[in-house]
Amino acid sequence: MHNEGDADLVVLGGGLAGLTFAWEAGHRGRQVSILECQPQVGGLARTLVFNGYRFDLGGHRFVSAWPEVTQWVQEVMADDLVSVVRRSRIHLGGRYVDYPLQFPNAFTAFSFPQAIRILASYLYASLRRNDQPDISFEDWVVRRFGRGLYDIYFRPYTEKVWGIPCAELSADWASQRIQLPSLTAAVRSSLFRQQSPPATLVSRFLYPTLGIGSLPERIVAQAQATGRVTLHLNSTVERLEPDGRAWRVYYRQDGQESTIAGRQVISTIPLDTLVRALPLGDGVAELSRALAYRGIICVLLAVDGPRISQDTWTYFPDHRLIFGRIHEPVNWSRLMAPPGKTSLCLEIFSSEGDGVWQETDERLVDCALADLNRLRLLTPDRVEAAWVTRVTHAYPIYRVGYARVLRQARELIARWPTLHLLGRTGEFEYLNMDAVILRALRLADRLADDR
Ligand SMILES: Cc1cc2nc3c(=O)[nH]c(=O)nc-3n(C[C@H](O)[C@H](O)[C@H](O)COP(=O)(O)OP(=O)(O)OC[C@H]3O[C@@H](n4cnc5c(N)ncnc54)[C@H](O)[C@@H]3O)c2cc1C
Repeated sequence: MHNEGDADLVVLGGGLAGLTFAWEAGHRGRQVSILECQPQVGGLARTLVFNGYRFDLGGHRFVSAWPEVTQWVQEVMADDLVSVVRRSRIHLGGRYVDYPLQFPNAFTAFSFPQAIRILASYLYASLRRNDQPDISFEDWVVRRFGRGLYDIYFRPYTEKVWGIPCAELSADWASQRIQLPSLTAAVRSSLFRQQSPPATLVSRFLYPTLGIGSLPERIVAQAQATGRVTLHLNSTVERLEPDGRAWRVYYRQDGQESTIAGRQVISTIPLDTLVRALPLGDGVAELSRALAYRGIICVLLAVDGPRISQDTWTYFPDHRLIFGRIHEPVNWSRLMAPPGKTSLCLEIFSSEGDGVWQETDERLVDCALADLNRLRLLTPDRVEAAWVTRVTHAYPIYRVGYARVLRQARELIARWPTLHLLGRTGEFEYLNMDAVILRALRLADRLADDR
C-alpha cells in the first residue's frame, strides 16, 4: 500500500465545496490534500469538453443574495463572466409559456375548464386553510395553490424530477424551492415587479464565458499556487479510520490502494458513501440506503447550424418525453460551441440502477432525438455527434421522514469533532453554488486557528 504521508487537513471531494474550502485554508497557511475520484475537478459544477463543444451537466447559473460571495466569485474569475438574461419556458398542453408561470398571462396556457378548476380549487383551499403542519410536497402546494394548479402544473414536473409520488416527497422541498407563498402572491409578483425577487425568479445571472467548470478550475489553480494545497485526482475514498488524534483515510488511486493521514477531515462526498466508509457498526447499510440521491443522465448533442431556441432552460413535464429539461449552451455564452454550430444538453431524471439508467447510450440518444423531432425542435440530420454522461448524486432526495434519518446520521458523525460535513452533496442539503461557497469559506475561517 502506498503511503502519502501526513496532511494537516484532508478534503474528501473536489467539487465547489471542497475546492473553495481548500482555497481559503491554503490562503490562511494550512496544508491541505484533496482527494477527488474523477479525472477532473468541479463535481456537479464541471464542464465537459468534446470536439470543441462545452457542456455543463445541466446549465449552472450563478446568482447570490450574499454580496460577499458574488464579489469572491468575481475576483476568482477575474471578471471573466458574462451577464445573461434568464428566459425560461415550460411546455404545457402543447404550448410554451414562461417559467415560473407569470400570472394572469399563464391562464392562456390552460383550457377554459382547466382555468375554472384552478380558480375554484384555489378558493376552496383558501377557505379551508388551517394551521395543520404540511407533511408532504402535495400538502404544501395544495393548501397554498389549490388542487387544480397542483394537478396540472406542479405535480407532473415534480414527479418526473424525483421519480416518486408528491405525497412521498417532503414539504421541506416545496418550502425551500417555491418562493411565492400562494397563487395570490404569484399573481401580485407577476403584476408588480418586486424590488428584490427571490433567487429562483431573478432575471439576470452571471456565467463564466467558458462554462461553469472554469470556476472550480480557477479556484483549484489559485489554491495550488499558495504552495500548500495538493490535489489527487482519480482517487476514490473507500474507508476512514480514527487513528489516535488524527484520521487515516484509505483511497484507491488508479487501481492502487493508498492511504493518507490528516488531523481534520472535511467530507464533501455523498453522505451515503461517507456513512459506509466510517466504522459506525450495525445499521449502517439501512441508514446509507435511506440517504438516497436522485441522479441525472445528460444527453449532449453537437448540432450543425443556427440556434434552436432563445431559452435559458426549457422544461418538459410530459412523462411521455424522455427528458425533463433542456438547455442550449450558446444561449449562456457564445464560446460554448464552435462558430456556426450549436449544441443541446438534455437532462433525463433517473436513479442509479433503474430502467432508464440501464438503457444503452445509443438507445437514450435515439429516444431523445425522436422526442426532439416530435416537438419540432430539432431534426436528427442536424446532429453531428452525441455523448451521454451519468451523474449518480445530483439531488439529495427529501423523502417524507428524511429529516429524522439525516439527524441520526449527523448525530453519529458528531462523535468525531475533527470530521466535518460540507456542501450540498456532503451535507445532504439542497444548496445552490453560492450557499456552498459561503459555507466553505466560513468553515475554513472557523478552523483557521484550530491547529
Ligand atoms: C442539474 C443541476 C443543475 C444545477 N444548477 C445550478 C444552478 O443553476 N445554480 C446553482 O447555484 N447551483 C446549481 N446546482 C447546484 C450546484 O451544482 C451545487 O450546489 C454544487 O456544485 C455542489 O458542490 P459540492 O462540492 O457540494 O458537491 P459536488 O459537486 O457533488 O462535489 C462532491 C465531489 O465529491 C466527489 N466524490 C464523490 N464520491 C467520492 C469518493 N468516494 N472519493 C472521492 N471523491 C468523491 C465527486 O466526484 C465530486 O467532485 C445544480 C445542480 C444540478 C445537479
